[in-house]
Amino acid sequence: MTPALGAGGSGFKSQRPHFNFLKTKSNLMRRSQKPEWQTKIAKERIEILFSLAEREFKEHPQRSRRYVELARKIGLRYNVRFPKEDKRKFCKNCNTLLKSSVTSKVRLDKNTRTINVICLNCNKVSRYPYK
Ligand SMILES: [Zn+2]
Repeated sequence: MTPALGAGGSGFKSQRPHFNFLKTKSNLMRRSQKPEWQTKIAKERIEILFSLAEREFKEHPQRSRRYVELARKIGLRYNVRFPKEDKRKFCKNCNTLLKSSVTSKVRLDKNTRTINVICLNCNKVSRYPYK
């Protein structure tokens, strides 16, 4: 029971998606049609990378950043969105895990009604609205 769709033969040998990436336009169209198992694996890997990033956070901040970077790359590639909590967990500029009072400052801005999270590594301010 193999769903062979005639797309260049989806046999066991054609596990080389990079070549298909060269056919640019059709690649964009296929974006959301990644097989479910791939998305599932991507999600698992992202979770693993985040937990690794947490673990290495104290002793190897550089490594931790790298893990977050990789998780984001996987997310981009497989069109996996991070849940809200995960999205705010890291700095979008330098991939540092944001922990209040350790690597970030959190301030409420009453005028704009936003939570301002300031990354202490690169001073980037992220704003999130509150109700
Ligand atoms: Zn930062």
